[in-house]
Amino acid sequence: MPAVGPVTACENVLHHFGKMKSRSGRTDRIEVAIVGGGCAAMAAAVELSRPQHRGKYHITVYQSGWRLGGKGASGRGPADRIEEHGLHLWMGFYENAFRLMRECYAELGRDPLKCRIADWRDAFVAEPFIGIGSEARRQWLAHFPPGDGLPGDPLTDYNPFTTSSYLVRSATLLRTLLASVPPTVDEPARQGRGPDPSTSAFDLNIASSAEMQATVRQYLKYGVLTTVTGLVSALRFVELAFRAAPLPGLNLLMPLLETVAENLNQQFAGVIADDPELRSVWEVVDLLLAFQRGALRFNLLSEPSGFDCLNAYDTREWLRLNGASERSINSDLMRGLYDLAMAYEDGDVRRPRMAAGLGLRACLRMFFTYRGAMMWKMQAGMGDIVFAPFYEVLKRRGVSFKFFHRLRNVSLGAPATEAPGHVAALEFDVQAEVKNADEYQPLIDIRGLPCWPSAPDYGQLVDGARLRAEGWEFESHWERRRSGAMTLQVGKDFDLVVLGVGLGAIPDVCGEIVASNPRWAAMVERVKTIPTQAFQLWLRTDMASLGWEGLPTTMSGFAKPFDTWADMRHLIREEKWPVRPRSLIYLCGAMREPPKTRRRESHNFAKRCREQVRDDAVAWIRSNLRTILPKSVNTSGKFRWELLVDPGESVGSRPSRDESRFASQFWTANVNPSDRYVLSVPGSIEYRISPLDYSYDNLTIAGDWTDCGLNLGCVESAFISGRLAAHAIAALPKLEDIIGYDHP
Ligand SMILES: Cc1cc2nc3c(=O)[nH]c(=O)nc-3n(C[C@H](O)[C@H](O)[C@H](O)COP(=O)(O)OP(=O)(O)OC[C@H]3O[C@@H](n4cnc5c(N)ncnc54)[C@H](O)[C@@H]3O)c2cc1C
Repeated sequence: MPAVGPVTACENVLHHFGKMKSRSGRTDRIEVAIVGGGCAAMAAAVELSRPQHRGKYHITVYQSGWRLGGKGASGRGPADRIEEHGLHLWMGFYENAFRLMRECYAELGRDPLKCRIADWRDAFVAEPFIGIGSEARRQWLAHFPPGDGLPGDPLTDYNPFTTSSYLVRSATLLRTLLASVPPTVDEPARQGRGPDPSTSAFDLNIASSAEMQATVRQYLKYGVLTTVTGLVSALRFVELAFRAAPLPGLNLLMPLLETVAENLNQQFAGVIADDPELRSVWEVVDLLLAFQRGALRFNLLSEPSGFDCLNAYDTREWLRLNGASERSINSDLMRGLYDLAMAYEDGDVRRPRMAAGLGLRACLRMFFTYRGAMMWKMQAGMGDIVFAPFYEVLKRRGVSFKFFHRLRNVSLGAPATEAPGHVAALEFDVQAEVKNADEYQPLIDIRGLPCWPSAPDYGQLVDGARLRAEGWEFESHWERRRSGAMTLQVGKDFDLVVLGVGLGAIPDVCGEIVASNPRWAAMVERVKTIPTQAFQLWLRTDMASLGWEGLPTTMSGFAKPFDTWADMRHLIREEKWPVRPRSLIYLCGAMREPPKTRRRESHNFAKRCREQVRDDAVAWIRSNLRTILPKSVNTSGKFRWELLVDPGESVGSRPSRDESRFASQFWTANVNPSDRYVLSVPGSIEYRISPLDYSYDNLTIAGDWTDCGLNLGCVESAFISGRLAAHAIAALPKLEDIIGYDHP
């Protein structure tokens, strides 16, 4: 375990802004090759193709297979059903992602009479109900009130993404939670002993550290902290002190916070055992107090690296270090947060690990900076809602797309020892040729909405019928068949590169860089990724009849391995079923790393993983679905498989009643290296490389695996990273316009 005390962030990045070199000598028309079509790559393309660049950057996106989206790709399968890599929710603090998305819909200017998803408000809908569950029960269903404004609105003068703002918000929440505690706690003490703190002038004396010290002394001296009223008053004082930050001597608050925590512990101890609701409140209070004490102890308000100085610790470990109780550290809430981030090393649920700086920053943003709603659900597949609009806007702006182009190698020009080096060539497999050398048209129209299909349109491909008959798998890492090869030369075919592939693909496509650059080698070794798994169930009965009481909800912390699930019934209207389902749920979670011996370079590996997910999903349904849907089982407690709707069935047909029916549902094992989920394990963050890194003067990187500040495996990190990559090339967007980018 690391020693207690601040850790200095590793400064391994040479920043440079908008100074990448064009080797062709062209300055008015720079050829940019963007490899990959995930969130990060799309964000970079959107930024570089902005009209204010006046066409300076001529962009080509190279994407393997037939669709954009990467880990966020979705497709339309049988019955136009939406098929996802996994449940995707957008948090209300995703300011960069929402801002770009809103601009995209505005620029598209879809006619609402012709297209049902014309505006971003049609595309995303607030999800205020969030639950935390456990294996045995569903519980902790909370309604999160709307936050001011909407994500992506211009920020006001007040910047919520600062340590002092998090501290103030945590103090306000603490005070509110305590004030709402029912009178069972400390009833006699409520009558008051010593001076009445609620009417005293204590809380105003914070203009200097001497006054603050005097006030803290008064609180401690009079014993007012033995009453709930006194504790609430003290927390109000703490809140005002945080508001006055950066007032010197804030750590004078430490003894006050210690005593508040101690007294609260005593007061709650007797009552929480029998009252689960109060216990949940107390756990939040306990965790917030640990955060505040830790923030003071680690001097987070003046630490130049901000929360990053905590990244050597695991989040739970750091909270424990700062006084959080074992009960709250192991609470359903904490488990739910790890589950949401799939924060399990090697996908092993016995090894939860999440770097403390990132874990805290993510939680604080999630709870304290959301706008509109804490979570947002998409109104169709992520491909339809996010990547089709981006594709259409980028096409209009003149961006070219080369589908079926799989990057095989990034070839370096300068001797490996020379710094900065440069990319001399990009070598691609051409997986399939498009007929008449046209550009592949990837979208399909589903009742007026442009969508991505789950399979390529072979009709557009040379020899398409043969490729289909032979079962070419364009999205499989293990598929090595190709129709041709292509090499792009620097200065002739491209000037600059944005590398937007997933981290898992880097060792494969950047062998030369990894072999010659110790920082890249360390990054691919230290920054961890895991496979993930997901399935979707379409049921013929509505949620209420299945036993779900209440509104549609998203829940984390539930039974493993599919610990996160969401009620997605709103998507059924997007699909076209012969027999219409009435319920739809999505489930996903980390997948245990298959044994190394099985990770062979073969197609069979992916096939076996898919079979494993199917078996695990069937087992999970048998054991766990009844906890959330108690009426989905028959009188002997067995799941009624006939509830599952098959896209191939017709009205009046008799559904089979055994588990073979699961074959009609959708499931996926996300084991392709590029699709592996990026973890933020302690001790790994300083090995990430920034899109602003200057080791190669015509190469920048974009992805949720880069050092982008947020550094979590999520859409917002990818968008921030893509914007940073654009900044590395064009000095735009300005760093201060990348919202929440609080990197030193
Ligand atoms: C199951 C699951 C659930 C998730 N849920 C959420 C959620 O609810 N909310 C959230 O915010 N985030 C979620 N995430 C994380 C989110 O999906 C990612 O953070 C984000 O999509 C990463 O985007 P990216 O651009 O960094 O990388 P990617 O999406 O991985 O994009 C990489 C791109 O490179 C392409 N590529 C790879 N190799 C090559 C090659 N050799 N040649 C050409 N192209 C190549 C890929 O096809 C892809 O287009 C989830 C992830 C998973 C796996």
